Amino acid sequence: MAWSVPAARRLRIRVHGAVQGVGFRPQVYRLATALGLSGSVRNARDGVQIEAQGTDDALEALLAGLRRLPPPVRVAGLECDCVPPAGDDGFVIAPSETGPGAALPLPDLAPCADCLAELRDPADRRHAYPFLSCTACGPRYSIIDALPYDRERTAMAAFTPCAACAAEYADPLSRRFQHQANACPACGPRLTFCNAAGTERAQDGRALAAAAAVLRAGGIV
Ligand SMILES: [Zn+2]
Ligand SMILES: [Zn+2]
Repeated sequence: MAWSVPAARRLRIRVHGAVQGVGFRPQVYRLATALGLSGSVRNARDGVQIEAQGTDDALEALLAGLRRLPPPVRVAGLECDCVPPAGDDGFVIAPSETGPGAALPLPDLAPCADCLAELRDPADRRHAYPFLSCTACGPRYSIIDALPYDRERTAMAAFTPCAACAAEYADPLSRRFQHQANACPACGPRLTFCNAAGTERAQDGRALAAAAAVLRAGGIV
């Protein structure tokens, strides 16, 4: 009798809930890669769709891991179907399914502790940068034009990431991996202070100081 290797199984998993704009895809990528699974994850119209292929143990560990992801991720439901195995080349984050959707749009999230530490660190490249954020925090609802949540459908589409931000976006170990709103002072939005006629008077920290001065003097900003 010949040796037989246990056949790999492939699951199509549809995940519903607060799963877009919360760093969900990067976390699935890290989980699946660590478990040696192949397949893909992508934003779908009604949540996130995962295709995962591997041993039963690894697939069960993936499902358990998905249920344990911490807030702001909120998994409201999981649907699994067995589908025929495919010849993947590893595990990838695939392009989003587009069209009218029913995924839960997320509220904006207050800065996380890691981002606040960068904001206050004079040696950090985002020191005093008011628009810093990561997959755990930052704007969502206020910048989204349409779902699925990808940069090209947000107000961030106007800002082309610099090389440093693009490197973070591509790095599975960065907390800005696949972070749609990634930005820094070199490439992202900046504060501008204008007078009532719309003439620009100051930028960045000086813009903030100018606005504060007007407020202190009893003015309206
Ligand atoms: Zn953050
Ligand atoms: Zn940048």
